[in-house]
Amino acid sequence: MRCRSTYTPAVHRYDADTEALGQAVLDYARHRLRMDPVPLDGPRTPAELDEVAGATITAKGLGGAAALDLFTTELAPACISTDHPRFLSFIPCAPTEASTLFDLVVGASALYAGSWLEGAGAVHAENAALRWVADLAGLPDTAGGVFVPGGTIGNLSALVAARHTARARRAGEEPRRWAVAGTAQAHSSIKSACDVMDVDFLGVPGDERGRLTGENLRRTVEAAGVDGLFAVVATAGTTNFGIIDDLASVAEACAELGAWFHVDGAYGGAGLAAPSIRGMYEGIERADSFIVDPHKWLFAPFDCCALLYRDPSLARAAHTQRAGYLDVLSEAGDWNPADYSIGLTRRARGLPLWFSLATHGTDAYTEAVERTLDVCRYAAAEIERRDYVELLREPDTSVVVFRRVGWKPQQYQRWSDRLLLANFAFVVPTTHEGETVTRFAIVNPRTTEADISSILDTMA
Ligand SMILES: *Cc1c(COP(=O)(O)O)cnc(C)c1O
Repeated sequence: MRCRSTYTPAVHRYDADTEALGQAVLDYARHRLRMDPVPLDGPRTPAELDEVAGATITAKGLGGAAALDLFTTELAPACISTDHPRFLSFIPCAPTEASTLFDLVVGASALYAGSWLEGAGAVHAENAALRWVADLAGLPDTAGGVFVPGGTIGNLSALVAARHTARARRAGEEPRRWAVAGTAQAHSSIKSACDVMDVDFLGVPGDERGRLTGENLRRTVEAAGVDGLFAVVATAGTTNFGIIDDLASVAEACAELGAWFHVDGAYGGAGLAAPSIRGMYEGIERADSFIVDPHKWLFAPFDCCALLYRDPSLARAAHTQRAGYLDVLSEAGDWNPADYSIGLTRRARGLPLWFSLATHGTDAYTEAVERTLDVCRYAAAEIERRDYVELLREPDTSVVVFRRVGWKPQQYQRWSDRLLLANFAFVVPTTHEGETVTRFAIVNPRTTEADISSILDTMA
């Protein structure tokens, strides 16, 4: 006879099977971490995956061993390893060993990091990591924020706080249209945030180096006659080219225009940790809000964006959710991370970064970022040296964009497909002013000069 009061359903029982499965899962995780290099791998079609995977969700279940085996032998190899040293497309991900290991701990701990009441210890540690980022940017001691899933949510949350602040200041007097200004190089997530918020995006022409400047900003705002400009987005490292806007002059213009100064450093903000390029970020210390994705160039696993506000109370006013069942949280006066962004429930996604920083110290981060910059400079020099490739622009950060002289778009695509199929490298074409070119985004300290040379050799 089963005793009801002590009955635990099978899925929540920790028994000998669970023990064995735990060993197998941890063994696989350890094996994946040790691989050097990891296989690059690549996608398969839905039909191919249907064939090898079959029906996986069934009434009785496959059993953990079979499900894990299916994942490791068929599904995982159908995912490109974003941490492969020759994955240079989009923005790769190169988490430190310590951060990946701690992601396992976060997963095992059922942490709720939306409120101080529930997650004080985790939130305390996340805040220490946020403080390091704030110090890199030179934000005041009163700055603070939250780790959100990515730059898209970070940008949207910051812009929502900016408009909320502008609205409060105007005390009910709405403009014809609210507007955000930035260059055409601003990330697609900015335009997407404008759509979500139903506000206009005012495109400002870049200077001769493609940067947003205070002068161009002033001129464009005057000419457009916008009455509802509430925020300006400067990019500290554009995704396609790694361009850093002229933050100091933009900060000055924002102060004159009475606009919120948001700096999108989702990719490039990590360069703040590198003394060799820190000078290009001058003016960032005046930002009203700032984001950087540690899952891009700060060696944290997905998904992790640090969102910081100069005055967090403005964000809290915009984002705090009110409900009877939440009163116990909102009335306590604690630091509740959920008050600073879109979203309520949150994983303690800043903890892997915190653990790695605590383990290695910040100097190790400076060294790792500088290493990627060295390899990027090598890539630029190699491209200059070889006569069949041409650099489009001297890199500001760690993105190198270049053309293969004489190639048509299909040739870039065929070359890119061939490299992936050979399990050698993942480098995709991109476009610039209508021309198909290609680019290396170098954020993985394991990427070497030899990797760069061997990829360039394949274009000869
Ligand atoms: C990647 C990126 C984003 C979007 O970040 P996600 O984490 O992908 O949502 C925003 N801005 C810039 C400059 C980026 O490089």
